Amino acid sequence: MATNGGADKVHTEAAARLRHLDQRYTPGRRAIITLLVDAGRPVSIGDIAEALPDLPHSSAYRHLSDLQDAGLVRRVAANDEFARFELAEDLTEHHHHLHCVGCGDVIDFTPSAAFERQVARNVDRLSETEGFEPHSHRLDVLGLCSNCQ
Ligand SMILES: [Zn+2]
Ligand SMILES: [Zn+2]
Repeated sequence: MATNGGADKVHTEAAARLRHLDQRYTPGRRAIITLLVDAGRPVSIGDIAEALPDLPHSSAYRHLSDLQDAGLVRRVAANDEFARFELAEDLTEHHHHLHCVGCGDVIDFTPSAAFERQVARNVDRLSETEGFEPHSHRLDVLGLCSNCQ
């Protein structure tokens, strides 16, 4: 998944959003953001431990929590065992997920413009019925990856 404007823009934005919360863009936080930019896909705590062996698990969890609070990182919906993390959508691009319930793997997919138009139309119609004002949507497809079938 490509990031709009590349890594520099993400780091600039990360520093700005943390500063807004009176927080610093520490080397640990920066290491996690760099990993997420480079990965270009949702990563697990195990992926982070593998890529950043010197970073204790407790610090990784704390950084992820801080980065989520700053709106920089999004947790991909899953149970705790299979938690995956990715950059917030406004730092990358709108996309959806294929979620394997067997191994927890998450595959990003970017739907066609026609697909998105159809989703938006249906969301608008449903929301109108409920007097609801829609801002965005998430669609995660649950199933089994090719390895787990
Ligand atoms: Zn799987
Ligand atoms: Zn969509």
